[in-house]
Amino acid sequence: MAKHIFVTGGVVSGLGKGLTASSLGTLLRTRGLRVTMQKLDPYINVDPGTMNPFEHGEVFVTNDGGETDLDLGHYERFIDVELTRESNATSGSIYLSVLSAERRGEYLGKTVQVIPHITDEIKRRIARLATEDVDVVITEVGGTVGDIEILPFLEAIRQFRLDVGRDNVFYLHVTLVPFIGPSHELKTKPTQHSVTELRSRGIQPDAIVLRSESPVTDELKRKISDLCDVGPRSVVNAPDARSLYEIPLVLHDEGLDDVVCSHLGIGLDRVAELGTWRALVGRVEAADVPVRIGIVGKYVSLPDAYLSVVESLNHAGFAAGARIEVEWIQAEEVEGLLVGARLAGLDGVVIPGGFGPRGVEGMVTAARWTREQQVPCLGLCLGLQVMTIEYARAVLGMEGANSSEFDPSTSYPVIDLMEAQRGVTDKGGTMRLGAYVAQLQSGSQVAEAYGSTVVSERHRHRFEFNPRFRSRFDDGWFTCSGQSPDERLVEFIELRGHPFWLGTQAHPEFKSRPERPAPLFREFVRAALAQRCGSTDGEAASGEAAGGGAAEAADPVAELARR
Ligand code: GLN
Repeated sequence: MAKHIFVTGGVVSGLGKGLTASSLGTLLRTRGLRVTMQKLDPYINVDPGTMNPFEHGEVFVTNDGGETDLDLGHYERFIDVELTRESNATSGSIYLSVLSAERRGEYLGKTVQVIPHITDEIKRRIARLATEDVDVVITEVGGTVGDIEILPFLEAIRQFRLDVGRDNVFYLHVTLVPFIGPSHELKTKPTQHSVTELRSRGIQPDAIVLRSESPVTDELKRKISDLCDVGPRSVVNAPDARSLYEIPLVLHDEGLDDVVCSHLGIGLDRVAELGTWRALVGRVEAADVPVRIGIVGKYVSLPDAYLSVVESLNHAGFAAGARIEVEWIQAEEVEGLLVGARLAGLDGVVIPGGFGPRGVEGMVTAARWTREQQVPCLGLCLGLQVMTIEYARAVLGMEGANSSEFDPSTSYPVIDLMEAQRGVTDKGGTMRLGAYVAQLQSGSQVAEAYGSTVVSERHRHRFEFNPRFRSRFDDGWFTCSGQSPDERLVEFIELRGHPFWLGTQAHPEFKSRPERPAPLFREFVRAALAQRCGSTDGEAASGEAAGGGAAEAADPVAELARR
């Protein structure tokens, strides 16, 4: 029977509860346990798919097409499993199930109530992850203890322990120990209040993780242990880490996995085998050649909106020995005469996913600059579409070419709504979502990067490269190097004679792992590193050659990037 760990948060949001839960998952996995994870989100949206990234950060897409909370990205990266949409439940999705059952008459005339009907549905969502092949289910409860919306979730996880037995459940509470500058003191009171609030809901934490700016003393831990009635070994400290991948090591040194395993009576015959993880952290620290990557997007004031993109760049950096310095560039600012100045000094540019017209012209300008300057450029979903628009306008003479998403009356809709999307009116969960296979052209840069001609990546889009215009792009330089198996959808594009000018309709950032960077990110960062190291000097084909049909130039940088 699977064991359950519930992770709650107190004091403030944004404490790194998801990272703490993920790090614990890593530790249990390295003790040989089979771990899965889920997030319960108290908000009313059925899923984050319709939420503005400014409000909620990135929408993480699972293989089965779930549009989920960004914490699932941390879970996948830390415990190295592929989760499904079942790993994320919101109040909205829970109410939707209950209300649909009510409309079908399944409550047989009963009054439908938060307790027991909503709480029962929450418990069902938790229990369904406890399949036979799982030893431990880690469930993170979003929000903060004390929120109104969190109450049914706390009640459900309280009851859950009664249902499955005391020894099968562990409650972990993550709180903040703030440092008050003028008095030079770390304060325990917020933690005490938050634990009191949790206990008032019938939940006594089995361990507390104290988040703090700098390490807390043993004396302070003892004080919290006394006041919160939690054993002294079970009060652990996670001060701000230099890198997120260091957190599992910090929690292990604090003894958290021992405390959890002793309580649940699992994994006691094994110690955590952290050799590989330590080696990873060693590589993270050793990666010191700075590489400047510009991310040109519309949500750049909230970096969480591109969380998996940044992590994928970092993973690629760890592998290449490069320290990624992200330059956040608001797309609307990349216009006019100052473009060169705004982008100068970048070793590579990423044009990430996005929706709506704002900022698109700036992205087109950035794509042009990278093509002409021979600077590596990686386009992700909207990024591929923008690169296609740029090339159509500047090289193929299709003035005003655009996506019909941004200019429905353009004469050259080189990007257009997918056939399957016509007539779709509902916004939530209706895009082309989840994993799809693509066939790559053998010998192409993408095929070389993946080391295969058949790949699967996750998607989230409604528009596509318009097949009507495909032959116009056959100029010997622009290459549609990957397509869907039925040959309808263009999935990858690249440019011959350029070190790295490559776009994908997919989101490869969702599958990158700290140990195994996503192939396109790995090659992109290598190309950017080569750019940094100055190996492009006068050797690569010029931007004009790339568009003008000149004989193919020898391209040592692309060669280097491929290796
Ligand atoms: N807005 C574009 C589309 O729907 C791109 C989507 C994305 O970048 N995820 O096709």
